[in-house]
Amino acid sequence: MKYTLDTIPVLDAFRQECQCPLCRLEITCEDGYIDGLLSSAYMEPECRIRTNQTGFCRRHYSLMYERRNRLGLALMTHTHLQEMIRSLEETLSGTAKKRSKLPFFAGSGTQESSRPARIQSRIEACDICDQLAKTMRRYAFTTVRLALDRDDFRQMFKTHGGACLPHTALLLDLAEETLSEKERTSFEALLRESVLGRLREIEGNLYAFTQQFDYRNAGVAPSPEARNSVEHALNRLAGAIVGEEAALPAHND
Ligand SMILES: [Zn+2]
Ligand SMILES: [Zn+2]
Repeated sequence: MKYTLDTIPVLDAFRQECQCPLCRLEITCEDGYIDGLLSSAYMEPECRIRTNQTGFCRRHYSLMYERRNRLGLALMTHTHLQEMIRSLEETLSGTAKKRSKLPFFAGSGTQESSRPARIQSRIEACDICDQLAKTMRRYAFTTVRLALDRDDFRQMFKTHGGACLPHTALLLDLAEETLSEKERTSFEALLRESVLGRLREIEGNLYAFTQQFDYRNAGVAPSPEARNSVEHALNRLAGAIVGEEAALPAHND
């Protein structure tokens, strides 16, 4: 697949002080998509065909519900619900797929074509997640390119300790898909050094944090790094999920 470079937002994100610039970019985009959908995009036929078919995941239903535009959400949900009723009529009228009694094959009943799996995959599908995934691949491609082409960016990449684990996987995927072997070797060395360096630092801080609960350390104030280490570790392991790193921009709509 061909990707286009989107340099400015990536540079801006890496200039900010944060744990994972790609998480910051993702949260900003997510917020923009929700805004766009609820303000006018839901009236565009092309968008509506997509949301009717796909619907939204738990996170994105919940984030849209927190906004004030209930009409946009109601209209999209109404036509998606009509589509879901049609699809469920078919799924729930079908017959169960025969399941194997052998333990090795016990999971085969939850394959793509089974009825529970069909319902599950519809629940998990999400138009916002789909749009975000496409944009994040473009940003990850840009990050990989900038890291190869610019010394100043390489330094910023190191300072941030690369990215969180989900975005490390994404960067590695884009590197494997788009780079020559020579470029890939060079990018992977940078990724390894940055990501592992930061993870080891967090691991040390987390250990220092646990030590403050030892009675022998009573009265010893933990360093700010140790104090924030649980938050940092969770956000590194799972992508921004807690604290300021995970905060969406404030809204009053
Ligand atoms: Zn991230
Ligand atoms: Zn979603």
